[in-house]
Amino acid sequence: MTVLSPDATTPVEIRKKGGERLTIRWADGHESVYLARALRGRCPCAQCVSETTGARLVAEGHVRPDVAIAAARPIGNYALHFDWSDGHTTGIYGFDYLRRICPCAACAGADA
Ligand SMILES: [Zn+2]
Ligand SMILES: [Zn+2]
Repeated sequence: MTVLSPDATTPVEIRKKGGERLTIRWADGHESVYLARALRGRCPCAQCVSETTGARLVAEGHVRPDVAIAAARPIGNYALHFDWSDGHTTGIYGFDYLRRICPCAACAGADA
């Protein structure tokens, strides 16, 4: 995995538009736009990814199409905690992880 610079993993602005999408602008000037369902399908919590095998248990295809972000709260300066409209509330997404899963064309597949 590429080591990301501190600026690449430091958000300067986090915007939630309705429950459908979340936009993060990073200190290095990059902007990431996440759609709710895709983001829910990448939840890194122990219910969604097996702690023993690392296998993904809940992916985008398992998530209801209309899932929305009910709330997104920063945890310290290292992560975001999400409450989802489907009742899932255990997901904590580190900023490093969020930057790595940026779905934009420039980042997609760059560092899976
Ligand atoms: Zn989860
Ligand atoms: Zn990107």
